[in-house]
Amino acid sequence: MKTALVIDDDPIVLTLLARTLEDAGWDVLKADAGDTGVALAIEHRPELIVTDLLMPRFNGYQVCRAIRSAQTYFPQPRIIVVSSSNYATDRANSIDAGADDFLLKPIKPVDLLHLLDIEGGTTFLRRSDLMGSKSAAPPDTAFFRHAIGSPPTVQFWGVRGSIATPGPSTLKCGGNTTCVEVRADGELIVFDAGTGIRNLGRKLAGEFKSQPIEVTILITHTHWDHIQGFPFFIPLYVPQNQIRIMGYEGSRIGLQSVLTSQMESPFFPVSMQQLPGYLKVQELKEMEFNIGKVKVTAAFMNHPGICVGYRLETSGGSIAFIPDNEPHSRLRMAPVTDSTQSHEVLAYAQKQDEKLIEFIRDCDVVIMDSQYDGVEYKSHIGWGHTCVDDAVALAVIANVKKLFLFHHDPDHDDAKVESMEEWARELAAIHGSKLQVDAAREGVKVVLNRATA
Ligand SMILES: [Zn+2]
Ligand SMILES: [Zn+2]
Repeated sequence: MKTALVIDDDPIVLTLLARTLEDAGWDVLKADAGDTGVALAIEHRPELIVTDLLMPRFNGYQVCRAIRSAQTYFPQPRIIVVSSSNYATDRANSIDAGADDFLLKPIKPVDLLHLLDIEGGTTFLRRSDLMGSKSAAPPDTAFFRHAIGSPPTVQFWGVRGSIATPGPSTLKCGGNTTCVEVRADGELIVFDAGTGIRNLGRKLAGEFKSQPIEVTILITHTHWDHIQGFPFFIPLYVPQNQIRIMGYEGSRIGLQSVLTSQMESPFFPVSMQQLPGYLKVQELKEMEFNIGKVKVTAAFMNHPGICVGYRLETSGGSIAFIPDNEPHSRLRMAPVTDSTQSHEVLAYAQKQDEKLIEFIRDCDVVIMDSQYDGVEYKSHIGWGHTCVDDAVALAVIANVKKLFLFHHDPDHDDAKVESMEEWARELAAIHGSKLQVDAAREGVKVVLNRATA
């Protein structure tokens, strides 16, 4: 009997796929995580592997690469990647990582069986993963720390999406790309390293002068507008500083490789290895962890590639950062001819969006992708971003206290962003909600103080 291995962290999907294959005469092995799946595969060498894409710890791309690089695994299996991601780039990345086929969730058993009837099985040469991080002993110094007991703060250094847009038309909101500073409970945490991180670095250098600082940079994903400012972050060039970068694997190559390669010649004159500061790139495996006393939760977002949002629990309240996301139900509402399929797909998409609502539930401050207005969104379906109407609706349903519209479109001038802000406030009032809405503006600082809020 032929053997298949199914890997999915969603128990319902895992059972459905396994049962479908068992009914079709396969002997089925099951794993609820990528790394345990790979171990099972190496041990039993199934002819077929069906793997989910977005899994914590070890994603579907990593599964494909691990299998394709296992030289003792011969003959190589057929690998089918299944995912809720409907983006062409994720299909292409899956194939590039070594998958033979890609199936979009929700999976109909008949679709999987139909695919298995078609001959497949091309294998690809894998590029080796450049893992590991620059290692140097942390300097034995007393670092600046945000004073425990003083209220946490959030400050915007870059609020623009896609590309920086300096100029007279963006003076009020700012033209720098994604970067937000949080100081809370002894920690200095930075969300993303878009071009805004340059001004943050300048401010830190002026504020702390020769006093060393310890910074944690949380990367949501490695699109340019979230990492391009990194080489211009002055604290990297001060030997006594300690900089920790945390993020998830970047779909084609590891986080370390992405950050290193944008600093390689001919793109940049100073390589990552030449930076004098203590620097550690940590590729995250868990979706919950702590930075000192701050609890961090991450969740995968619906955006091309591997992209997460973060939620911080601080002594002054909670902060969620979701710069790039497209609600599943919006994306999947496109008309289809088969009404049953349409109903199933919509129900599935709504369930995915409910996960996001739970992720931001009762949050004090949510910084959320609101790139388009409702009309613009119609011509940008599938670009991976939210329209302002949906951002407000999600925040209202989740009982969020304060929403910042974020990731402003590069084509939006101050007047446009402010008109979207007005509309968002009207919408919140129409919903009968107390939700406060502001457009994120460079330089604005918010003090979180749950006790006095
Ligand atoms: Zn972005
Ligand atoms: Zn992006």
